[in-house]
Amino acid sequence: MTKPRIGLIGLGTMGRALALNIAENAEPLAVYNRTTAKTDDFIAHTKANEPALAERLTPAETLEGFVDALATPRAIILMVDAGDPVDKVIASLRPLLNDDDLIIDAGNANFHDTNRRAAAAVEQGVPFIGMGVSGGEEGARHGPAIMGGGPKEHWDRVSGMLEAIAAKYKGEPCATWMGTGGAGHFVKAVHNGIEYADMQMIAEVYGIFRDGMGHKAAQIGDTFAAWNDGVLQSYLVEISGKVAHATDPDTGEPMLDIILDAAGQKGTGRWTVIEAQVLASAIPVIEAAVFARNASSRVALRARGQDVFGAAPMTLPDGALDDATLEGAMIAGKIMCYAQGFELLHAASTHYDWSLPMPEVARVWREGCIIRSTMLNDMASALTEAPDDTLIFAPFFRDLIETHTPALRKTVATAMAHGLPVPALAAALNWFDMMRTARSTANMIQGQRDFFGAHGFERTDRDGKGFHGPWGSS
Ligand code: NDP
Repeated sequence: MTKPRIGLIGLGTMGRALALNIAENAEPLAVYNRTTAKTDDFIAHTKANEPALAERLTPAETLEGFVDALATPRAIILMVDAGDPVDKVIASLRPLLNDDDLIIDAGNANFHDTNRRAAAAVEQGVPFIGMGVSGGEEGARHGPAIMGGGPKEHWDRVSGMLEAIAAKYKGEPCATWMGTGGAGHFVKAVHNGIEYADMQMIAEVYGIFRDGMGHKAAQIGDTFAAWNDGVLQSYLVEISGKVAHATDPDTGEPMLDIILDAAGQKGTGRWTVIEAQVLASAIPVIEAAVFARNASSRVALRARGQDVFGAAPMTLPDGALDDATLEGAMIAGKIMCYAQGFELLHAASTHYDWSLPMPEVARVWREGCIIRSTMLNDMASALTEAPDDTLIFAPFFRDLIETHTPALRKTVATAMAHGLPVPALAAALNWFDMMRTARSTANMIQGQRDFFGAHGFERTDRDGKGFHGPWGSS
């Protein structure tokens, strides 16, 4: 029997799904997991449920056995927990490999770690790529979005296999090489940051329906389901409708009403915000979404706040907002959020000298990943026309913004007047208003800085820098 050339280490949720996807849609592979019982369970489960795929899996009990089971040159995918485990696996695996064997880290690595591992691999003269995989378990099994980074020649060695297992948008595979080093994992992190923001804006509108308008979960589910047939069509709006429709089997109550209001996170949204600060890039909608998750987890503090200060009135007067206004607010907010995400990618591309392929980023996100949506196809078209321009200036999105920003303004103003928290929607609107204000208020900041620190300023009426104000005499 010919040996497989692909191996996969890590048979957790994602690794199992990805292994079956590779076996089904690409080629046979060898699999290994640190805890052998998990390998045995995976093989037994696959034999019972998908026997044809089990035939294409070569399980190994030891790392040495796993390496021996592979034809050379090997390509080994790591799907283990991000961080230290990846370094540990690489450290024990690399001495067993040949110099031309490729290691692919497919977990959610911080791109700084990927940069470090890629640099170490170059120093050792061995191939390594870091690859962001999005779409959760379902995506990994039936077609994820794949964002690769590292030397292009190493990506090319496995791009055929990756395209075979990736999601397809109208037949086009959602798997693309983004650039050198940690470029793929950076794009994945921004994807996750945008995911946080999309989810938060949906949650804010849900809150307006629930607390401002007294709508029941199922009614809100109907509204989201209807929106999913329009401009807002997306996986996240679709599943939000399904979540709102679900009933708790234990109590018979709407599931949503039983779920504790404290959002979890694995940190990729936070990474996006940190990197935006490092690059001085404005992504306030994503920042607001990370803030909102952090605030949500302060359950006891929020309860104390309500005891001490009382809940905000929240209930809106009849007719203050309607479905169409809220839908418009979500459309405008979403465009502004994505414009910020792509601005961050731009800043990173320049700073790290990646030449990120902006239209390709939008294309890769059209299927398989959590933020997939119809609008991303329009974004891909806009970025193809003008890859370096801010999305809000693309004619298609400019029209949508002009149409729907009044709805966003009405929604934010009404919600805030009644104490309904809308941090992400408000951040979108504030960002937009700043972006269309030619004369900002930063002249006051510059005056203050010069007053206390003699930092100097530029003047509007003369060329040059380093002017100072008459502070000594004031
Ligand atoms: P799981 O917790 O299901 O599995 C973790 C895997 O990592 C297990 O196979 C575990 O082996 C292995 N592992 C952990 N530490 C070590 C170590 N020191 N040495 C060897 N193996 C180790 O995680 P997921 O499958 O959900 O996630 C895997 C990666 O994919 C993570 O980076 C995650 O962030 C990323 N990811 C997850 C997504 C999801 O929706 N779940 C989506 C996209 C990416 P053992 O069984 O021996 O403990």
